[in-house]
Amino acid sequence: MAAVYLNGEFLPADQACIPVLDRGFIFGDGVYEVIPVYGGRLFRLDEHLQRLRNSLHAVRIPEPLGDADWRTLLEELVARNHGGEQSIYLQVTRGSAQRDHAMPEHPEPTVFAMSSPLHPVSAEIREHGVAAITLDDIRWQRCHIKAISLLPNILLRQQALDQGAAEAILVRDGLATEGAASNLFIVSDDTLITPPTGPLLLPGITRDLILELAEANGIPHREHDIRHEQLRDADEIWLTSSTKEILPVTRLDDRPVADGSPGPLYRRMLALYQDYKQHLRDQHTMATES
Ligand code: PLP
Repeated sequence: MAAVYLNGEFLPADQACIPVLDRGFIFGDGVYEVIPVYGGRLFRLDEHLQRLRNSLHAVRIPEPLGDADWRTLLEELVARNHGGEQSIYLQVTRGSAQRDHAMPEHPEPTVFAMSSPLHPVSAEIREHGVAAITLDDIRWQRCHIKAISLLPNILLRQQALDQGAAEAILVRDGLATEGAASNLFIVSDDTLITPPTGPLLLPGITRDLILELAEANGIPHREHDIRHEQLRDADEIWLTSSTKEILPVTRLDDRPVADGSPGPLYRRMLALYQDYKQHLRDQHTMATES
């Protein structure tokens, strides 16, 4: 049984319980993070903790822990679940209170974290890519907050799955913003383009790393709006997230993207991404051996 963390304790997942009046359960009143672990090491932890802090501030939940305590807690959770490759989910809710939309005056946040297996993207997907469909973005206007209330994202993702696609790419006012659980990149005229951050999309940690890798490796890139028509005409489309890394989209709305196979820039970026991960693993091995 995997170990989880709940409010100061590590315990087996089937023994972790929260009160029914927890506002996470009643209202979806909370925020979360998903952090991949490679070679026993939390990937881009500082960036994830900064985004968590931003989400907490945006919804006025007091920070339950400082960065050093988060690090200790999460490293212990990783170790208790035997290191290696994992996906850590952590969630902070506004805690328990009598049901009332008004926020409790003195909230005691609930802190929960668990580990799940991190499955690598299959060779089949890397070779052939995935299908995506475009859908109207029915979400709210504060999508930069990583809120646990994900009903619109669930409905959108399911609609994509029901149509045989892996992801829904969301369009608002004629602009493609991101996926239901991923960020969006296109390649057009040999340039990598992703929409600028703002209230209508999540500032993805993977997205930022890809921009960093593009910058470091002389790949032309820019943060710019992507019009729906531009998406349809793109040479390559990618979706990025912490657990899926980079997914090439090779069919959009039942039509092939360019020649219908993953493009050359996808292959190059995937190699750069894997090198970056390996470098971190090597650093960790050297640190633990010395
Ligand atoms: N956009 C949305 C709506 C998401 O839910 C996610 C991840 O779950 C992302 C983007 C990608 O973010 P990250 O790269 O930090 O995982």
